[in-house]
Amino acid sequence: MAKIKNLIVGCGFSGVTVARKIAEDFGEKVVVIDAREHIAGNCYDYWDGNRICVHRYGTHIFHTNLKEIWDFVSRFTKWYPYQHKVKGLIDGQLVPIPFNLNALHQLFPESISSRMELCLLEKFGFNKKVSILDLQKVKNKDLNFLAEYIYQKVFLEYTTKQWAMKLDEIDSSVLGRVPVYVSRDDRYFQDKYQGIPLEGYTKLISKILDHPNIDVRLSTPFSKSMEYERLFYTGAIDEFFDYRFGQLPYRSIKLDFIEFPFSRFQDAAVINYPCNYDFTRIGEYKWFLNNQSDKTVVSYEYPESFVLGENERYYPIIKDKNVELYNRYLDLAKDIPNIYFLGRLGDYKYYDIDKAIERVIKVFGKRKK
Ligand SMILES: Cc1cc2nc3c(=O)[nH]c(=O)nc-3n(C[C@H](O)[C@H](O)[C@H](O)COP(=O)(O)OP(=O)(O)OC[C@H]3O[C@@H](n4cnc5c(N)ncnc54)[C@H](O)[C@@H]3O)c2cc1C
Repeated sequence: MAKIKNLIVGCGFSGVTVARKIAEDFGEKVVVIDAREHIAGNCYDYWDGNRICVHRYGTHIFHTNLKEIWDFVSRFTKWYPYQHKVKGLIDGQLVPIPFNLNALHQLFPESISSRMELCLLEKFGFNKKVSILDLQKVKNKDLNFLAEYIYQKVFLEYTTKQWAMKLDEIDSSVLGRVPVYVSRDDRYFQDKYQGIPLEGYTKLISKILDHPNIDVRLSTPFSKSMEYERLFYTGAIDEFFDYRFGQLPYRSIKLDFIEFPFSRFQDAAVINYPCNYDFTRIGEYKWFLNNQSDKTVVSYEYPESFVLGENERYYPIIKDKNVELYNRYLDLAKDIPNIYFLGRLGDYKYYDIDKAIERVIKVFGKRKK
C-alpha cells in the first residue's frame, strides 16, 4: 500500500481541524481514520425517531471567547443561539449552578440572604467568580457559614461522585470550572459566543471533512503497520506506546438514555443532583435546539472508573503523578520524527471544544510546510 502523506488518527474536533488545515492551507492529501463507526468523536450526535438531536457521549454546548475559533467553526454551520443554564437540586429546590446571588436568595430567608449578599459584594465585588477554596478562606462569620453550606451542598458529594476523590485531592483547575458567582446571571457560561450547531455536531464535522483532499476511513483502528510520512495522533498516548509505563488513569461515565412519552421532563437542559442519587446529573436533549416533540429523551450520568476495553475515556485525572507519567510518554514521542500528539487523549488534558481547536491551530501556526 502506498505511503500516506498525512495520517490523522481520530475524527473528533481535534483530528478534523488538523485535516482541514492540511487539506486547505497546505493543499496536501490527508487520510483521517477512526476506530469508531462514526465521525465527530465525543461530540457525536444523531437525530432520533422523534426528531430530537441526542448527544451520544453526553451534553455538549459550544462556547468560546475566541473570535478566531468562532469564525472558523461558523464556516461550517449556522447556530441556534442557545444560552446554557444548569440547575441543581439543593435542599429540595432547583437553584442556578454555578451557585449565584439568585441561588442565595432562593435558599435563605431574605434577612439572612441580604446580609450575605452585602458581605459578598464588599469582599469580592459584583459579577466576580470566586473559587470555593477562596470563599472558605474569608474571615467573616456569615461568609464562613455560606462557604460551608455551599461546600457541603454543592461541591462535596458531587465531587466525590464525579471523581471518587476528596475535594482537597482534586486539582484546582478542575474545581475552578465551577465557581461561586457573585452575580444575578444564571447562565452556566458567560462566553461571548455560545450556541448549538443548527443541524447538530455530526453534520458540522462532516462539513469540515468535506474537502477533496480529505479521505475518511471509519471503523479503522490505528495500526503500527500503517505507513505514513506524518502522523497526527488524537488517540490515547499510552495506548500508542503499548502502555509501556502503565496506563494513564481516566474517569468514565455510564450514560443511561431514557425516552419518556411526554413532552417535557425537567426545568432546564441539565439538572445536577449533588446530594441525591448515584447519578450526578440528568440532561434533556430537546432543550438545545428547541426540538418540538410530544416525547422527550434524557440521559442519567453515572461516573465510574475507566476500565480498558469496558468503557470510554472521558476525563483525564489531573494529578502530579499522572502528569509525570504522561510526560514520560511524551519524552518517547520526541524521539520519533513527524509525529504529533494532539487532542484531549493525545495531550492528556481536559479541553473544551474551542480549546481543542485552538491547540491545533497553534500547532499549525508554528509548523512550516
Ligand atoms: C461528558 C463531557 C461533556 C462535555 N461537554 C462539553 C461542552 O459542553 N462543551 C465543550 O466545549 N466541550 C465539552 N466537552 C469536551 C469535548 O468533548 C472535547 O473538547 C472534544 O471531544 C475533544 O475532541 P478531540 O478530538 O480531542 O477528542 P475526541 O472527541 O475524543 O476524539 C478522539 C477520536 O479518536 C478516536 N481514536 C482514539 N484512538 C484511536 C485509535 N487508536 N485508532 C483510531 N481512532 C482512535 C476516537 O474513537 C475518537 O473518535 C465535554 C467532554 C465530556 C467528557
